[in-house]
Amino acid sequence: MNIIFLGAPGSGKGTQASLLSKNLDIESIATGDLLRKEVEKNSRIGNIAKEQMESGALVSDEVVIDIIKEKIITKNCEKGFILDGFPRNINQALKLEEMLHNCDKKINKVFNFEVEEDVLVKRIAGRYICKKCGAVYNRYFKPTNKDGKCDNCDSNEFETRSDDNELTVKNRLKVYKESSFPLIEYYKKKHLLVSIDALKISTLVFEDLKSNINN
Ligand code: AMP
Repeated sequence: MNIIFLGAPGSGKGTQASLLSKNLDIESIATGDLLRKEVEKNSRIGNIAKEQMESGALVSDEVVIDIIKEKIITKNCEKGFILDGFPRNINQALKLEEMLHNCDKKINKVFNFEVEEDVLVKRIAGRYICKKCGAVYNRYFKPTNKDGKCDNCDSNEFETRSDDNELTVKNRLKVYKESSFPLIEYYKKKHLLVSIDALKISTLVFEDLKSNINN
């Protein structure tokens, strides 16, 4: 089962991708996470990507396509994969199709996570992450249960993504609308698109995904 998750930043795709990848025992590939790792490593790719990521712009197609190309041919992806954050524009979608065709694979489903824009801004600008275990919280919707301590691992050290500030968020949403919206029509025409009401709480969104996959 090869799946694409489409949705604006803050639509909850990342959370659902990690739940679903465990549930189906398939790989989850998040281009944003892979790029952030490159930036942390100070690698050549990281240095190219850093400035664009911090302003909320898209990193060049060549860079992300190379990253995906390497990943989908690995053994981990043999059983299937979830692409979270890729493709982000029509050119990337076309390149993906070509890549998959060359290794005899195809996309089975494309889930589009739908959430209203004012909720998205709060979801992203309020997001903070446990430094130790990576658990994700939100100061508006999902703060830690115990004041200032991670529910998972009790750590009191948290961080926020450098591109999760209100100014960058607005630009990321603008970029999403301009570049990624056409993908919805593109996959609709291919009869692969399934709309998901991602305003619901995470457990219900996950149920919707699973029942769709089982049908
Ligand atoms: P995300 O974690 O998916 O919100 O991505 C964070 C940032 O990484 C984006 O704002 C882009 O700068 C960059 N990025 C992630 N995926 C892609 C992609 N498929 N194409 C171009 N840039 C990307």
